[in-house]
Amino acid sequence: MNVYLKPVTDPDGSVQEVADDIRARMQRVAAVAALHAQDVDRDGRAPVEAIAAAKAERLMGVLVPPEFGGEGASHREVIEACYILGQACASSGLIYAMHQVKVACLVRHGLASAWCQGFLGRLCAEQLLLASSTTEGQSGGNVRSSDAAVVQGDGRVSLSRDASVISYAEVADVLVTTARRAPDASPSDQVLLVLEEGDYTLTRTGGWDTLGMRGTVSAGFQLEAEADPAQILPDPYERIHRESMVPSAHLFWSSVWAGIAANAVERARRHVAKSARGMEGRTPPSMPHLIRAMTALRALRALIATSNARFEAVKEDRAALGVLEFQNAITLHKVEASELAVEAVTCALRATGLAGYRNDGETSLGRALRDVLSAPIMISNDRILSNLGAACLLAGTPQSIHD
Ligand SMILES: Cc1cc2nc3c(=O)[nH]c(=O)nc-3n(C[C@H](O)[C@H](O)[C@H](O)COP(=O)(O)OP(=O)(O)OC[C@H]3O[C@@H](n4cnc5c(N)ncnc54)[C@H](O)[C@@H]3O)c2cc1C
Repeated sequence: MNVYLKPVTDPDGSVQEVADDIRARMQRVAAVAALHAQDVDRDGRAPVEAIAAAKAERLMGVLVPPEFGGEGASHREVIEACYILGQACASSGLIYAMHQVKVACLVRHGLASAWCQGFLGRLCAEQLLLASSTTEGQSGGNVRSSDAAVVQGDGRVSLSRDASVISYAEVADVLVTTARRAPDASPSDQVLLVLEEGDYTLTRTGGWDTLGMRGTVSAGFQLEAEADPAQILPDPYERIHRESMVPSAHLFWSSVWAGIAANAVERARRHVAKSARGMEGRTPPSMPHLIRAMTALRALRALIATSNARFEAVKEDRAALGVLEFQNAITLHKVEASELAVEAVTCALRATGLAGYRNDGETSLGRALRDVLSAPIMISNDRILSNLGAACLLAGTPQSIHD
């Protein structure tokens, strides 16, 4: 666990530095997020209070190595942070997760670039919030294909993009976008481009009036950008996608979904415990549903821990990261985790009955259900399963439980 030294002013005016870990800092952010979660959802607005609290706790650059101003935190620590924030406000949790996915990509694939080193320093010093643009036009969730291309000229690069979904774009400080490498490149020959304030303009092309995850405000925009060519990451996006984007996105997003599930299961547990108190030792009939909800949450937490352990074991080894078995497992992690999260929340709802179905009252599970239903469609599970078909046929059947 990384330790951050937080300056605390004593009554005599002297400043002490006290140890403060990422978990404790995120718990304070979660308390702020919980206070505003209901109106963030109702009004479909960005959770600006939680974002400000995360910046004040200096949680934006934790993955960045200390020599560039960060804390060199592990994926495990960010996973815990996403789980804590996801329990309080799913939209805040998902925003934090999406930001950290981009930071993970830049840390792994940008350190060979002097521009990126300087940018990571600014990210930590100014606690910048990074948004992501991968979805484009009508092509849906095919992240490995871009229409819009970067165009080189006069020592600059420009990009004009129909960015049909960008979460929290209007409150982000930086935009990280995929693009075709050049006008004559194929759609899958992509780069990752970092755009700072002043490099880009966004014009709204669509809104975000959705069932859940309303606070992510994932609206559509026409993106116009011009930047220094050094702002294109040196590694091709194909490598960034395989080694960083997929593992980090799937681990961080699923930790937020686990947070939503944990919140729902806890509400159901309290509700069933209250019913049990009035039943003189008899078991409430809703108990099997609660047990199913708890079992799904336990399986989800175990899946995230196991997938992260596999990632941590191979993350420094490019060849091992590219092995079919690892790639299949980390890709399918998203499908399994999203389905377990939905199962945990729906079982919790059945355990609570009408009390959970109501929109009023402390047992209400409406927001959790609406938020968690975004998980299977955020990069459609169907698309992932159909893309993995051929690779799964090649993978064979493991001959050991442990390997
Ligand atoms: C909460 C949230 C936040 C998001 N934030 C961002 C963001 O910040 N930046 C960003 O760029 N994008 C973002 N996205 C968009 C996301 O990355 C995907 O692009 C989006 O979820 C795909 O939407 P889709 O269902 O329209 O597209 P598609 O993937 O095209 O799916 C549409 C339908 O077609 C079916 N389908 C598609 N392909 C196949 C296939 N091969 N086999 C079988 N069926 C198939 C699916 O079942 C689905 O029903 C966000 C999405 C969500 C839900």
